[in-house]
Amino acid sequence: MRATNVILSAVVATAIACMHNRSTGGDAEHGRLPENMYAGGADCGGRSAFRVAAYNADFFILRQPACTNYEKPFLYLIFGRDRALLFDTGAPTIDVATPVDTLIRQWLARRDQRSIDLVVAHSHAHGDHVAGDSQFVNRPATTVVGRDTASVRKFFGIVQWPTAPSTFDLGERVLDVIAIPGHQPASIALYDRRTGIMLTGDTFYPGRLYVRDTAAFARSINRLARFVRGHHVTHMLGAHVEQTSTPSVDYPIGTKDQPNEHRLDLAPAQFFELDSAVQSMRGRFRRLALRDVTIWPQTP
Ligand SMILES: [Zn+2]
Ligand SMILES: [Zn+2]
Repeated sequence: MRATNVILSAVVATAIACMHNRSTGGDAEHGRLPENMYAGGADCGGRSAFRVAAYNADFFILRQPACTNYEKPFLYLIFGRDRALLFDTGAPTIDVATPVDTLIRQWLARRDQRSIDLVVAHSHAHGDHVAGDSQFVNRPATTVVGRDTASVRKFFGIVQWPTAPSTFDLGERVLDVIAIPGHQPASIALYDRRTGIMLTGDTFYPGRLYVRDTAAFARSINRLARFVRGHHVTHMLGAHVEQTSTPSVDYPIGTKDQPNEHRLDLAPAQFFELDSAVQSMRGRFRRLALRDVTIWPQTP
């Protein structure tokens, strides 16, 4: 645990030192994406802890190591003045509470603040994004949002699901919450107005975009594309990387060691390309490899 803390401190210090040198453009709060968040291979090699990177002092990216689960999902921890939000809790089986608590403790220490509430929410309800929930259920000052659509709707106050977004304020940090069912019924995207980052879960990431409900997916992608066109979106960050750095080529399902993987972040232009491809299928979905993502319809 001590080793983890040392690594986290070093990463955070480096990122904060760099954050004033990098611009994301527009009025967005500056930050820096990691060049690489390599998740390691099948062998933990004595280091089974989450990889952690600071986008800036209030926005953190965590990645589950491959040796604990081939899905190696990405999680996000975002701080506002009044509360922090953890977006997803990972796949089985790993300690996620310790790195999250460490980041929160370090954040509080930097601000000379005693405590901050934590909200644990999910990009969607699949098992590789909610497995760590139980580690937060009895944590003080913590709310774990339910995984079903009704709970998500209620918590975020989405009156017209899925057509109208709602907002959720962490305290001087407003997130737009956009329902995007299709990959899974309770899928949501989060848009962070401060950094301009859009978190897209399994609906949009460099890899296989599994489509369970094709009609809902097509509408969600189109609705999200309209939102992206109307906002300053700096980066679109999803929950996995399965693509290689070679265009249109993905790693086989179950691959743990991905030394030449695609970078995590995608841009609005790549999302518009997905929207065009999805809409041109006119409801007749087929597997299609675009440059950075693969549309992958699944039969129910
Ligand atoms: Zn999923
Ligand atoms: Zn997933």
